Amino acid sequence: MKNILLIVIDTLRPDHLGCYGYGRPTSPNLDRLAAGGTRLDALWSVSNFTAPAFTSLFTGLHPHHHGVFDFTSQAASSPLAGVIEGNQMETAGVVTFRFFQNLLRNIWGPIEAVTDTRGFDFSKNLPLDVTASALEWLGARQQGESPFCLFLHYDGPHTPFRMPDEHADVFDSQAARGADPAVTDLLFPRAERLDPGRRKTTMFRFMKDVNWGRRKLDPATLQWIIDKYDAAVRYNDLAVGNLLAGLDDLGLSDDTVVAVLSDHGEEFLEHGGFAHGGIHLYEEVVRTVGIIRDPGKPAGGTAITRPTSQVQMLAALLEMAGAAGAPATDLGNLMAGSRQEPGPVFCHGKSKIAVRRGDHKLVVPRPNPSLDRITRLKMWINMARQRKLGSEIFDLARDPRETRNLINDKELRRGLQAILDEHLAAPVPGPLGNHDLSDAERRRIEKEMRDLGYM
Ligand SMILES: [Zn+2]
Repeated sequence: MKNILLIVIDTLRPDHLGCYGYGRPTSPNLDRLAAGGTRLDALWSVSNFTAPAFTSLFTGLHPHHHGVFDFTSQAASSPLAGVIEGNQMETAGVVTFRFFQNLLRNIWGPIEAVTDTRGFDFSKNLPLDVTASALEWLGARQQGESPFCLFLHYDGPHTPFRMPDEHADVFDSQAARGADPAVTDLLFPRAERLDPGRRKTTMFRFMKDVNWGRRKLDPATLQWIIDKYDAAVRYNDLAVGNLLAGLDDLGLSDDTVVAVLSDHGEEFLEHGGFAHGGIHLYEEVVRTVGIIRDPGKPAGGTAITRPTSQVQMLAALLEMAGAAGAPATDLGNLMAGSRQEPGPVFCHGKSKIAVRRGDHKLVVPRPNPSLDRITRLKMWINMARQRKLGSEIFDLARDPRETRNLINDKELRRGLQAILDEHLAAPVPGPLGNHDLSDAERRRIEKEMRDLGYM
């Protein structure tokens, strides 16, 4: 049996990587990995923000079944845990922030948060720290031990941009001249100006103001954000490159399936929204990176263009690793060379839900029932205020930028709505997420999330 190395880079848009066609050299190491592996061109996250997306990745369940919609809850169990145990795989993780420890506590092995173990100066070397810890963990293992499934979380180009100053200016452009210093200070404070307490809370407010139309982002400032985003992509690519080189040095590359994913994308005002986790479920926030290198497959450089979902990712990776009892999935079948048309894929946001079948995508407003009534009411009000209550249908083959709403095509709408209704009516296959944290623990996690700009 092979090992699995599951790497997730937060907030990384595929279309900002060279191997997905981006013009800037942001990703030499990921490009090399893709050239020797398979690139998933239409891989959807299960949500547009971190907590439910990760829970679905690790459980193989959709959010209406695992019930996890924030960082203070966690899935009680995972249907895939039995497969992992049955194959005597060792699970472990190295992550940037410790809220993953709470999120995955019942369904994964020990997880190290580098912000706890390697100091937390709020900046600056987190991706390289994750790589260093992962290589230490891998190096300490004895030959002949059980196969492992190691999960790594890189904070990627999530705002505020955390990278050493000397890596931050590689893509600075003329068009970003004159960017608003209030924004640049907020999203990428230089080392000498770090003031975490102030910056952290105001960043969330800034994003909300942009998304609610209370604050405009001028073109120079938006370009500055994209320049810094790309620099952060490049810095994380370097960290992953070091990791893959280390895997080679340890002689593990031939026995390890490597997957590099992102948990969701990022909006740069393409449809008026900024960042992620808001109302929108457009492709810029729903489509994720998916690069998989299976050493059992000699021919690399292939791409899968049909729609696939991260909810099937762990099962597919287990299957590729040769785990007995791994459930068959469309993604696993496609990776094995099947030409059969895969089934529909789904994305559950806080305010809306989306389904894609073939090239067509339907998005409908639906505040998630896992949230309390007041929160859901606020979401309806928010959508109404922003005039975002309408449903939308797009043909992603003809209109990849999602500019032409086909909602008046009644037949198309009926078909997609029926798929969505059936998906939501499917019975819960296991226990829902539990919420057994003490008040103090919940407050601690919420404060940490706010401090990091995640709330
Ligand atoms: Zn995320």
